[in-house]
Formats: sequence, C-alpha cells, structure tokens
Amino acid sequence: MTSGIRFDGVTVRYGDTTVLDALTLTVGPGEVMALLGPSGSGKTTALRAVAGFVQPSAGRVHIGERDVTDLPPYKRGIGMVVQQYALFPHMRVDENVAFGLKARKHPRAEVPGRVAEALEMTGMGAYAKRHPRELSGGQQQRVAIARALAIRPDVLLLDEPLSALDAQLRSGMLAELARLHRELPDVSLLYVTHDQVEALTLADRIAVMDKARLQDCGTPQELYRRPRTEFTASFVGNANLLPVRVAADGVDFAGTALKVPVDGAAPGAAATLCVRPHLVGLGDGPNALRGRISEVQWRGATHRLYVDVGGHRVKADVRELRDTPPLGQEITLHFAPEDAVLLAAGVNDG
Ligand code: ADP
Repeated sequence: MTSGIRFDGVTVRYGDTTVLDALTLTVGPGEVMALLGPSGSGKTTALRAVAGFVQPSAGRVHIGERDVTDLPPYKRGIGMVVQQYALFPHMRVDENVAFGLKARKHPRAEVPGRVAEALEMTGMGAYAKRHPRELSGGQQQRVAIARALAIRPDVLLLDEPLSALDAQLRSGMLAELARLHRELPDVSLLYVTHDQVEALTLADRIAVMDKARLQDCGTPQELYRRPRTEFTASFVGNANLLPVRVAADGVDFAGTALKVPVDGAAPGAAATLCVRPHLVGLGDGPNALRGRISEVQWRGATHRLYVDVGGHRVKADVRELRDTPPLGQEITLHFAPEDAVLLAAGVNDG
C-alpha cells in the first residue's frame, strides 16, 4: 500500500505563541523528506502533528487519502523513532518489538514472525532475548527502529534518531537507514534533523524550517545550488553572502563590477550574492576580486582563506596550496558567473 503525508495549512499555537505557522507540504509515497532547521524552528511539532501527539490549532493532516487530524495516534498507521530510543527497560528486545503489535490487537499467531522479520531487517536478530541495558546505544536505536517497523507502517517518523550516537556510529546508521528505505520503497519517511549532512545524505527533498515557518523546499541539489533565501544558503552548506547592488548586466560588490546572472532584478536594488567557498578559485579569472588574507585555516584537504575585499570578508576553500600563506598577503580570487546566485535582499524576512 502506498501512502504519503499532506500538511494542509497546519498551525500550532501555545497561548499567544505560534510554533508552527500554516505549514503546507506534501511528502510523496515512498519519499524521504527531511525537516531541517535550527532548534526551536517547529520541526518536532510538525512531526508530532502527523503522529497525533499535537493537535493543530488550524489546518488538516492527511496520510494517504485519509484525513487523520482527529484520529488517535494508534489508528494512523505510523511508526515513530525518537532520539532517546524509549525502549521499555523491563522488557526483552523481542517483547519491546512486539509491543506495538499487541497494543493494536494484532493476531497473536503472527506476532513472533513479525518480530523476527523486523529484528532481521535491523540486524538485531541475535539479540532478541536481551534486555535494553545489555545493548549499546546504537543497538538500542536499531531495536527502536525494529519496533517502529513491526507494525508495517505506511509512514515512518524519525525525530533526530541519530543525535544520541557518536559521530562514527552516526554515519554507519545513516547508511543503514538508507538501506532500510531501499528495502521498504513504499514507506514515506519524515525525518527531523538539525544536521545538514544527515538531510543531504538521506533525503529526496529537504524542507527548510526557521521561526515556525517553511522557508524553502527542494531536492538537496536544488537547495545547495539554487537556494532561494539567505537562510537556506547558509544553513544548507557554507556560503559567502555578499552585499551587492544590482547593475545592468551584473552587480557591484565593494566597488568591483561582477558579471553574474541577475534574472530580471531591478538595477540599483540592494541584493545578496551567494557564492560557495569551494567555487572560489585562486588567481586571476572572470569576476576577479583583490584583497588581503585576514585568516587562514588548514583543514587537511583544503585551506580555508578569509580574504578582506574592500572591508568585506570573502571565504575561499582552496586545494592547490602546498604551504600556508602568510596573513596580510595580497591575493586575487575569482569565481565563474554561473556559480553565483543572486538573492533578493530581505526575502527571508517575509
Ligand atoms: P524543533 O523541533 O525545531 O527544535 P519544536 O517543534 O520542538 O522545535 O518547538 C518549537 C517551539 O515550540 C519551541 O520554541 C518550543 O519551546 C515550543 N513548544 C514546543 N512544545 C511546546 C508546548 N507543549 N508548550 C509550549 N511551547 C512549546
């Protein structure tokens, strides 16, 4: 069965505070959607509105064709995984995984098979008789995922599922989640995270949240290459955000004329030019900028140079330097016109 999630103007208020502001968003059947944003931006609230733990003040939530806004959580066909595993400490692993099936009064005879299947999928088949305290954090999270999958949900909700794990385990679990999703191609995933690497790695599309609102939504590539807002540009990847003034066939930046696509922006208007630091090259070229090195960070594969250009700081991540250049050295940087994206000033404030 295929499903998907639809938020239709979903608003959540606590007293006078709006913590989710008219969210409209569709997660397709089998799609992985990441909700990405800083802490407090409303991501968990959106996820809990799908789960049924938060009642919207306005708007509707659909799962597949069903309007689930007024349904209790256990009738929504969702599996949920949270950061803190939330396993029952007094129950064995297999009992934990069976819990959701028993709570839903699933036919008893089928329960052991479902439990074994879910544990097998998460690589935890050998641990069925252990208690959670006998497992590592990563193993506990696998059990929590198995428990969510045992009910064969249409929709899997994941709320910062890797945050409690250390960095190395996190990257292994990310690959595991990607594999699980390939094995369950019809299940829609809504994945809450503040970590752009998780979102870029796992998601088919990313919904960028800030201040209770959806700011931007697109594939990871779209958001990285063509961000629509300053917020997206800086939150998804690293960015130079240069204050510029629109000219006839480009922009003016710190007294230098730059050729970049202006897409009909009004000449004379203030705007922001987004250029990714790894797309800024050393030496002369199109859109050359002269400045002085104000800071250097050696990062193994690259040097991050901070260059003062007419009082503005430009970041460049360059690979070709053998030695770390001295501070204060004059330097020329350049970037290709097609690697710059013009953002209207203040578009993020609306
Ligand atoms: P995120 O998941 O992006 O960190 P949340 O959705 O958890 O953000 O929270 C959004 C905002 O809503 C936060 O400012 C939080 O303090 C507030 N909030 C969440 N739950 C409640 C609640 N039950 N009562 C009052 N405020 C809440």
